[in-house]
Amino acid sequence: MDAQPTASHFIDGAYCDDDAGAPIECIFAATGEVIARLHSATPTIVDRAMESAARAQKEWAARLPVERGRVLRRVADILRERNHELSELETLDTGKPLQETLVADATSGADALEYFGGLAATITGETVPLGGDFVYTIREPLGVCVGIGAWNYPTQIACWKAAPALTCGNAMVFKPSEMTPLCALKLAEIFIEAGAPAGLFNVVQGYGDVGAALATDPRTDKVSLTGSVPTGRKVYAAAADGIRHVTMELGGKSPLIVFDDADIENAVSAAINGNFYSSGQICSNGTRVFVHKAIEDAFVARLVERTRAAKIGDPRDEDTQLGPMISKAQRDKVLSYIEKAKDEGATLAHGGGVPDGFDKGFYIEPTVFTGVTDGMTVACEEVFGPVLSVLTFSDESEVVVRANDTPFGLAAGVFTRDLTRAHRVVAALEAGTCWINTYNLTPVEAPFGGVKLSGVGRENSKAAIEHYSQVKSVYVAMGDVEAPY
Ligand code: NAD
Repeated sequence: MDAQPTASHFIDGAYCDDDAGAPIECIFAATGEVIARLHSATPTIVDRAMESAARAQKEWAARLPVERGRVLRRVADILRERNHELSELETLDTGKPLQETLVADATSGADALEYFGGLAATITGETVPLGGDFVYTIREPLGVCVGIGAWNYPTQIACWKAAPALTCGNAMVFKPSEMTPLCALKLAEIFIEAGAPAGLFNVVQGYGDVGAALATDPRTDKVSLTGSVPTGRKVYAAAADGIRHVTMELGGKSPLIVFDDADIENAVSAAINGNFYSSGQICSNGTRVFVHKAIEDAFVARLVERTRAAKIGDPRDEDTQLGPMISKAQRDKVLSYIEKAKDEGATLAHGGGVPDGFDKGFYIEPTVFTGVTDGMTVACEEVFGPVLSVLTFSDESEVVVRANDTPFGLAAGVFTRDLTRAHRVVAALEAGTCWINTYNLTPVEAPFGGVKLSGVGRENSKAAIEHYSQVKSVYVAMGDVEAPY
């Protein structure tokens, strides 16, 4: 199998490489096969990417907003036209089942480009009357934005960052995760095809050191990271030196609370989607499933019965519902969390190991633990794999306190038929994104992001405009200037 791109990087409208960069092997997670070999960016590559982005940004910002929007909407159209081939590449890059990539990756990216393309011409300032004098404001681009991605949603992350950045008149240099280097290169090609100036969206590959070099480059005006909390701390600190703008989309340990009046079948569906989709490699997953004691048995019985039916297989097969983890290292990390949960006294209700016949790739069974208590490691740390923990509760105020007792605050979900309770509980939850009677839906129209250690800033929606632009105030005097002497 071969998914070798033309070259490692895409800069100033063309592929390029520098063989002096450290090797990056792209591995198909279902088989362990190397499907592409690339190079991490050298300082020369980083310099070229920043230089061309700085130049392209000036040309792009001078274009009429409506023209900028047209280019972004063209990118959206091409993404949709090529969804099948892009999804196949995303499946090779990530190991995620084609059943998922066909509906959640390039299509989600297209939604973002279409949405922000439509907003481009609506970004305006305001006028502030002051008697005769007045102030008007101009919403200006920041300049060159650096995007740094995680490996779970490479195309979506690139688009969620590029779309609002570019609509505001910025350029972007994007560094995909070293685990998933392939799809952002295709996006860069499509930007050129759609009429973006060369250099507006550059892709440089690399490990953390390349991300660090981009975050501290004097030409960088903003850094937007999707990644873990430890990386977030480093990138935030590095950006602070130059007082650069940041968006941090980090990890989570989100609660999904199921009250005793909930529709159990829907709550189980949400728990499955919110723990096993993308083999559990989703930041906002509801990995702490708090179930009311009165319905615990019924909930767990259906959860295990339905999880047992999951079709594990080759992610290229459209019938496959559960694919491998991204890497051997991640699989082993998740397996060690499973062992720890058992050691600490949790009850393994389903899964817990490598599925029979799948020892070649990085597969792991969807795993359900019951009898989990708040202090157990599996209930405190982000596992980032298909591991669901069931905790029980008996009282609303008790469960709210326990749900909030985490340094993370990315997301939360509540299942109940009691409308008043649903809104009351959501209001008390410390999370940037909440769902009532569903889970993990993230339409581009809604702000997405975390509180506490889960991050700062918001992606998607009009809120993202605030994070990719700055306001200039212009005071206009209509009379004489008074001076004391
Ligand atoms: P990671 O933190 O290991 O890496 C993220 C990116 O940062 C990679 O591109 C990596 O090369 C880069 N990087 C590493 N060190 C760096 C440094 N010092 N300076 C600059 N860049 C550096 O994360 P991951 O393992 O790729 O992804 C999983 C994590 O991402 C999980 O914690 C998950 O919750 C989080 N995530 C968050 C969201 C969100 O929107 N909140 C979405 C997806 C994933």
